[in-house]
Amino acid sequence: MKTLFHLGLMVLLVFAVPCQSQETNPIPEPTQLAPEAANTEPVQTNAPSLVPTNTPIVIAATNLPTAWRGIQLFIQSDAAVNALAAALPRLASNGVNAIIVETGYHFDFKSHPELRRGEVITLACAKNLAAVARTNGVRLIPELDCLGHQSAKKFTYAFLALHPEFIEPSPSNPDPKTDYLKNWCPNDPRINPIIFDLIDEIAAAFDADAFHVGFDEIFNLSSDNCPLCRGQEPVKLFAKTVNAFYAHIALTNKLEMFMWGDRLLNARKLGYSRWDASMIGTSGAIDLISTNIVICDWHYAKRASYPSVPLFLQKGFRVWPSGFQPLEATKAFSDYAMKQRAQNPRVVGYLCTTWSLGKPATVADWPPVAEILKDWKN
Ligand SMILES: [Zn+2]
Repeated sequence: MKTLFHLGLMVLLVFAVPCQSQETNPIPEPTQLAPEAANTEPVQTNAPSLVPTNTPIVIAATNLPTAWRGIQLFIQSDAAVNALAAALPRLASNGVNAIIVETGYHFDFKSHPELRRGEVITLACAKNLAAVARTNGVRLIPELDCLGHQSAKKFTYAFLALHPEFIEPSPSNPDPKTDYLKNWCPNDPRINPIIFDLIDEIAAAFDADAFHVGFDEIFNLSSDNCPLCRGQEPVKLFAKTVNAFYAHIALTNKLEMFMWGDRLLNARKLGYSRWDASMIGTSGAIDLISTNIVICDWHYAKRASYPSVPLFLQKGFRVWPSGFQPLEATKAFSDYAMKQRAQNPRVVGYLCTTWSLGKPATVADWPPVAEILKDWKN
């Protein structure tokens, strides 16, 4: 009881210095997830190695470590940060022990204040949330979408809105189903130094020991209209980008790097859609990047099996299976992943992505969170 009292007192003390909520939280347009039937990604063979050495994480098969019971949320204003801080004790008591905090560019950047747009997260509020998370035993993993997802159907996010010169130009024959999702040019040397500054600021603000770089749903690498990229192999461009981020985040800054896994999967071979797997020739990068990266392997369809999980395990990665809704599909993926974890503890747990549906005050009651994560309590 004494310990519980002190924990409670610490929570109260943390809340005793509230941040100033500024505005309400605008939610970006949700990710488009329409499944596709036709898979045309070429099979990558004999891809050159861009990473000389990998050191796979080895976890003993006995004494399973605590499962990572995660949720992913858009947290893009001080109001949202404070709402999450208020909700954290209940989330933790329900078993949540990791939260991916997707800030986007809604941060009070000091290194690049020109990128601040609309509502932002201030340093003081981020620090307060970090303190509440520590008190409640919850790991915060900030996320900034990198390379891809720089636009939605109706608007462009801050980075490419300010720097349209960094947009990878549409190819001469763009796919109208995906062309609205812009990514930056992977070969422009001016980009990474700016993004690394942003990542460093966000990670420090949340006292994070990890960072999620996104890298999902990229559809336009090596456009024939890009003088820096035309004629180059997408697999090499993608691996080069991942490796550059890994070098900065993991090797230099000693943070654990997380990314979505879809561009590392061959949609045709595995039977996934163009969204949760690649049809643009990047899947061979699975052999060209560090296996120390934690792969968030997201799939939202109900299937009998999810072959990406054993594939990532066989390649040496830790895998964080990530579902969404409906509950039936989430349950199917969770059950499959749990059986995989019984065979290989590099399946680290389960992640409930919530996108625009997840609000801090109510996410504990959202069916996939309420019904699935409890199955992952050790
Ligand atoms: Zn380019």
